[in-house]
Amino acid sequence: MGESGKNLENIEIIGGHPAIDFVNTVSAWNAPSTGDYLASFDDFLRWNVMADLIGPNGLRRLRATEEGDQEAALAAVHRLRDSLHEILAARAAGRPLPREALEHLNDIIRRTAAWRRLAADEETDFRDICCLWDFHGAPAVAALGPVAWKAAELLELGDLDRLKECPGESCGWLFLDTSKNRSRQWCSMRTCGNAAKVKRFRQRQA
Ligand SMILES: [Zn+2]
Repeated sequence: MGESGKNLENIEIIGGHPAIDFVNTVSAWNAPSTGDYLASFDDFLRWNVMADLIGPNGLRRLRATEEGDQEAALAAVHRLRDSLHEILAARAAGRPLPREALEHLNDIIRRTAAWRRLAADEETDFRDICCLWDFHGAPAVAALGPVAWKAAELLELGDLDRLKECPGESCGWLFLDTSKNRSRQWCSMRTCGNAAKVKRFRQRQA
């Protein structure tokens, strides 16, 4: 784990959608120095398992890919996360969507399509269709597929009017506000919400 590495096991999952939670694997988007929960390719694979995007077979196959490939794939993971952050932050703020970042997402979707597969679902005696990822013989970069396709699904079908950016001082995490009256302000009451409460309390005391 690198200097800026953060322990993935401690991450708060608050985005309300895996593509948003992926963007939130940077400890803060609006601070000059920031920690990264995805400091290695294996961190990214483990995050995918936590988010239920990759199963045990996929994990085994992607872990067996070449080390040099994995390093390049990690750089691609970080670039995809930057692009997705640009797109979602723009959407949350009501700004025009960044064309280059959208093109980049399209490019990743095209590059990973080869490992997406429709199949008859074993669990329903092959009566239903299921969509799955088959990483048999795939290179490390194929691991970007599940989260990139989830992001496309979110952008196409998600309730993006509920997308918000946390105004916390070292935060900028994104989330879907699913509260009834759309009153959620903070990523989490444990971190930014609590910090704001403490700040208000101190201001009252002063
Ligand atoms: Zn926050």
